[in-house]
Amino acid sequence: MNEVSVAGVTIDTRHFIGGQRVASKETYTNTSPIDGSFLGEIARGGQTEVDAAVAAAKAVFPAWAALGAKGRGEFLHTLADLIEANNEALSQLETMDNGSLLRSHRRGVMPRVAMNIRFFADWAINELHHDVFETRGHTNNVSWDPSGVAALITPWNAPLMLATWKIGPALAAGDTVVLKPAEWTPLSASFFADLTVQAGIPAGVFNVVQGFGKEAGAALVAHPDLARISFTGSVPTAKTIARAAADNLTPCSFELGGKSPAIILGDADLDLAVEIAVEQYDNAGQVCLSGTRLLVHESIAVEFAARFAAKAATLKQGDPRDPDTDIGPQIHQVHFDRIKGFVDRAKADGENIVMGGEPNAELGGLYFRPTLVKNPAQNSEILTSEVFGPVLCMQTFVTDDEVVAMANGTEFGLAAIVVSGDRAHAHAISSQLVAGTIWVNCFFVRDLKAPFGGSKKSGIGRDGGTWSFDFYADIKNTVVSP
Ligand code: NAD
Repeated sequence: MNEVSVAGVTIDTRHFIGGQRVASKETYTNTSPIDGSFLGEIARGGQTEVDAAVAAAKAVFPAWAALGAKGRGEFLHTLADLIEANNEALSQLETMDNGSLLRSHRRGVMPRVAMNIRFFADWAINELHHDVFETRGHTNNVSWDPSGVAALITPWNAPLMLATWKIGPALAAGDTVVLKPAEWTPLSASFFADLTVQAGIPAGVFNVVQGFGKEAGAALVAHPDLARISFTGSVPTAKTIARAAADNLTPCSFELGGKSPAIILGDADLDLAVEIAVEQYDNAGQVCLSGTRLLVHESIAVEFAARFAAKAATLKQGDPRDPDTDIGPQIHQVHFDRIKGFVDRAKADGENIVMGGEPNAELGGLYFRPTLVKNPAQNSEILTSEVFGPVLCMQTFVTDDEVVAMANGTEFGLAAIVVSGDRAHAHAISSQLVAGTIWVNCFFVRDLKAPFGGSKKSGIGRDGGTWSFDFYADIKNTVVSP
């Protein structure tokens, strides 16, 4: 009951609190999005488990903080080594649990998971030097001190990647952690807990409480003993968390949704533009950064659309464990129905759906065909809401001013893409865009030292390099007289 074997990997599906596996009275059923197969019964946590996890994290915090960046770094490097050694197991179980491509997990995602731990351990040791400067003979010593217990709440679309993007800097900063993974993808966090034990990380430094957002999540973010709340997920949930955090004035970091523009200028290399545009279906469209609004210059729109349709038609949809598959399933029936609802309403509103627009009947289950909506009405739901599925909109423009207004005409500001054969032209556009990350003639190039986050409703704060430590640490200035 407490252990499941997924793709040959044994997972303990209980919570991980103070170094111990802890059961709950209730469990919930976890199934695979690939084929609906039963994966396991998962512990369903609430106030009691959250209280125990926060207490465990609080109790060990002084000792973990006292180790210093170097002491913590040794544990974290061992943990990163273990992640690398378990790449295959982690890739297999994450694919079974969230339906993303196995080949992406093996080659890109799990190496990055290890890097999330290693990079921030090293950054705390090597880059987070105490900043020292003089004021009228006095010395200012700026330091990034451990702050306490960090609550981390993560979504299902890239479970362990997004969790370690928080765990890495939080632990490196000297905080202790309570992680509440998404209820649809609980497994990799549970396996990760075992790796922290193997790495010798002291009991209570890292804790996992499994369960639903409205139960375990809500209890966690309302807890008075938290020093930080770091959340990646949707805008409505962020608002709920912000309200709960307000009672304790707990600082929050929010990485939220997007409706990012991919701007294809008239001078773009069309092959590159099409390649980047089709990439926006990656992870079955369940990517916060996805450029879901293709804004194409009128002079090349016909040619672009024809080439896009030809390229998109070559995408193979199917089992994400098959190395030839490009697009897997959606995560869950609830999410599948949500995506279908957006598309059905767009159809009912008379929108022009030129590709896809329906479930993949041959595959059945949770497979939704890559979809393109051409020239949707300006304030239409499909153009303004985050669908978080394989649904792109395409619009045309004539002038630069027009496309900048279209690109910025959203409540979100997570990312943007500009494709142009002229760097100066690309710069003239990108400098006017409101977004946390802008890619020019590329997509998804990410350096862990670069700032990452969203403007407007796409988030609060930035992660990456020292920005992560600015959040997880208590920044202190000690002024010493001459
Ligand atoms: P979600 O907001 O429904 O859930 C995210 C997490 O919050 C889950 O663990 C959930 O259990 C928890 N949660 C739900 N209600 C809660 C509550 N009241 N209190 C505390 N926790 C609660 O989001 P989702 O559907 O899992 O993820 C998709 C969203 O995440 C999309 O909007 C996507 O754009 C966004 N996202 C953003 C980034 C980024 O880096 N900006 C990355 C990935 C996903």
